[in-house]
Amino acid sequence: MNNRFFITTAIDYANGLPHIGHALEKIGADTIARYRRHRGDSVHFLMGMDEHGLKIAQSAAAAGVSPIEWTTRLAGEWRAAWQLLDISYDDFIRTTEPRHAVGVYEMIRRIRENGDLYQATYAGFYCVGCEAYKSEDDLVDGHCPEHPSREIQWLEEENWFFRLSAYRDRLRALVTESDFVRPESRRNEVLRMIDEIKDISVSRAGLKWGIRWPDEPETAVYVWLDALTNYLSATGFPAEGYERLWPADLHVVGKDIIRFHCVYWPAMLMSAGVETPRGVWAHGWMTMSGGKISKSEGGTIGIPAAVERHGADAFRYFVLREVPWDSDGNFSWDRLAERDTSELANDLGNLANRTLSMIHRYRGGVVPEAPATTELDQIAKETVEKYLERMDRLALHEAAAAVFELVSRANSFVESRAPWKLARDPANAGSLDETLASLARALGVVSGLLHPFMPGRMGELWTSLGTSETIPPFEDLASLDLTGRTVSMGAVLFPRPELAK
Ligand SMILES: [Zn+2]
Repeated sequence: MNNRFFITTAIDYANGLPHIGHALEKIGADTIARYRRHRGDSVHFLMGMDEHGLKIAQSAAAAGVSPIEWTTRLAGEWRAAWQLLDISYDDFIRTTEPRHAVGVYEMIRRIRENGDLYQATYAGFYCVGCEAYKSEDDLVDGHCPEHPSREIQWLEEENWFFRLSAYRDRLRALVTESDFVRPESRRNEVLRMIDEIKDISVSRAGLKWGIRWPDEPETAVYVWLDALTNYLSATGFPAEGYERLWPADLHVVGKDIIRFHCVYWPAMLMSAGVETPRGVWAHGWMTMSGGKISKSEGGTIGIPAAVERHGADAFRYFVLREVPWDSDGNFSWDRLAERDTSELANDLGNLANRTLSMIHRYRGGVVPEAPATTELDQIAKETVEKYLERMDRLALHEAAAAVFELVSRANSFVESRAPWKLARDPANAGSLDETLASLARALGVVSGLLHPFMPGRMGELWTSLGTSETIPPFEDLASLDLTGRTVSMGAVLFPRPELAK
């Protein structure tokens, strides 16, 4: 079974450097992408940069460079950060690329042809922080609640409007009759947005830095129509063959931008006669001291700093274990150090080190032959099933927890079997073989299942089990046989971290 699976993350706004608050979405999407690859799917994983808009033009001007020089520099920085985190994207699109403009123009042409564009005067508030129009009701004390320190703008301009209101019923059906919005807890919020929809302005008069509106050199395409189309233009749309990738199976986005992804975007696609994506996953936020990580707080922790202390794998694992994939979770260096010490170094690291060293000491480094009939083998099999079920419903944190439950059961198994006692009496040779073979299999299962979370160290652990081939499909891990493999001790996989300074 070779399913195609097209997954995307939100494209990041080229207005500053990535910080740990941006990492959650990318690590989560990467883990899903890696998981689907291991299941044999043909995965296409798209990321990118959103490079148009007033804020970017302003930042470039302040830095004394042209907007494109500015965004090119930043795109390089962001890609370097994703590389540090081992993010395995297949394509990276920048909205300043020609291939993207082609897609945007085709969207506008089709929406217009369908009669869904008209000119009218927009008079209302606009938040440059969100790049979004705001109604009076959206404001708190006269400010955008997301950007309380920014002055809200009052705009009056002749714009192009998209007849969003014509899609109310079809949007409602999409949301209620399918899994389009996940987690399910977000569905009602989206339905409320659909109830309240009005037509939206999709052009910005006088905005210099953006894709030009067709035949109107002084007008820019509204940044969200521009940005959202990246998912489609990256497939080569409208050139023949774009349906090999489209529709996207999963847009992974933050919960703060579901209005754009669950209301505007599907409606625009419906109008253009393009299939809607199969689903949107709205993840929560990594918070710090209870609040969203912003530039002012935590935003000062860059990706290199996050990776430097504990390594990319420990950081990836921590983020996905600590922050439930369907809600918010808090970041703290103390918690990271704690999980790195207790779960990675003590539980998993210890299990790996003692299993490998006992196979060396008692069996010359070769995994002995023994049927998979111990209680640990049974738990390992159940863990594979539990993990698959949880990963399939994108409960990443629960899937990781299931594997660590196996790790802890394996450590108890070592204690109760006490191989060092069995080794003293040759009459116990069969029992010792059974114990060591069972532990090696459990370690194989653990390294396979955790590989999407910690590709670096789990790849090493897998290799240390004497397997030259790649990790098999997850279903096959349940019947993993390592008989006769020569294990290697290798480096210490999980050194105890120095406690954070
Ligand atoms: Zn705002």
